[in-house]
Amino acid sequence: MSKVESVIIVGSGPAGHTAAIYAARANLSPLMFEGFMAGGIAAGGQLTTTTEVENFPGFPEGLGGPELMERMRAQALHCGTRIETETVSSVDLTKRPFRVTADSGEYLAQTLILATGATAKRMAIPGEDKFWQRGISACAVCDGALPAFRNKPLVVIGGGDTACEEATYLTKFGSEVHLLVRRDVLRASKAMQARVKANPKITIHWNTEAVEAVGAGKLLDGVRIKHTTTGAESVVVASGLFYAIGHEPNTAFLAGQLQLDDSGYVITKPGTTQTSVHGVFAVGDVQDKVWRQAVTAAGSGCMGALEAERLLSEEEGA
Ligand code: FAD
Ligand code: NDP
Repeated sequence: MSKVESVIIVGSGPAGHTAAIYAARANLSPLMFEGFMAGGIAAGGQLTTTTEVENFPGFPEGLGGPELMERMRAQALHCGTRIETETVSSVDLTKRPFRVTADSGEYLAQTLILATGATAKRMAIPGEDKFWQRGISACAVCDGALPAFRNKPLVVIGGGDTACEEATYLTKFGSEVHLLVRRDVLRASKAMQARVKANPKITIHWNTEAVEAVGAGKLLDGVRIKHTTTGAESVVVASGLFYAIGHEPNTAFLAGQLQLDDSGYVITKPGTTQTSVHGVFAVGDVQDKVWRQAVTAAGSGCMGALEAERLLSEEEGA
């Protein structure tokens, strides 16, 4: 059995690396499991799957997502974080120290910071792989302002709050926005529905699903759609296709160990990163289904490390 670590961080996106930087600078010598294609995503998290990041402060010209994550990792290492390229397969949170099982064995931790993120759901329609990041995106806030989408028709798929919010947001950039809803109702909150329905730039296509992303060249030209009741097919001309069909939080490995909400997100006490288990903190997208940005993930990573440090100091002084 290994020694008892002060802090183990699981996950390596902006939340995990920021937690690592703060914990290391507090002399807690954190151990991070960065994952090995965990949740289908490379170590470094969701930003490794994108090109330009233009909204992370400190980089006025923007920088590539993989480069941003490489820099965060280098900073975490520089501050004294130890990083294992392994995926955590299970945890035992029934008593402290907590047990963390990874490929190389079992580890013990006084505090645990969960930063395993979430994965945007994709649809696997024909053309998706070809046009992914060449017109297709799963994040309107991240990509909507790109020049390729300016004054062009855009399509959003989904009927929840995210889809409505993103459709509304995209009207700032696109010439028009087509919202594809697979049923004849929106799942979104009443307020969000009202906003979408009142926006003259948004056309809602009820009972409609996307069946193919089309384009003659390297960029998306349109989306083939199908009416779910009549079966009629047509093509909506569009330069952008935004999936807003939900995210999958990477929490399967927690299996009943702490409180999750109905969608599988870790529940934290409002205004904190504290979970239902004393000594376990959750940061970033694994506990956030509203903001989902690199900078908000990093901010909560900072909070998680400070809360872990505070708890350890209190216990040491007790
Ligand atoms: P993630 O980035 O999801 O990272 C979690 C990491 O933990 C992953 O590497 C995962 O493999 C690992 N992991 C999961 N399970 C385990 C396990 N059991 N053991 C070990 N490791 C594990 N935000 C912006 O602010 N600006 C943008 O321009 C932007 N562009 C985006 C573009 C795309 C295509 C996507 C998908 C997202 C984009 N975002 C952007 C959102 C941003 O990427 C996320 O909000 C942010 O990455 C969340 O950070 P996180 O640290 O919570 O988790
Ligand atoms: P939801 O799970 O609420 O909605 C997903 C939507 O995508 C549903 O309308 C669903 O259709 C549709 N969908 C799922 N799969 C497919 C598919 N394969 N093809 C077509 N459509 C599909 O996810 P959200 O991300 O919208 O919201 C998640 C949570 O976050 C919610 O609790 C929401 O309230 C919250 N949220 C709150 C915000 C706010 O308050 N400002 C902003 C964003 C999110 P169907 O309805 O038929 O199942």
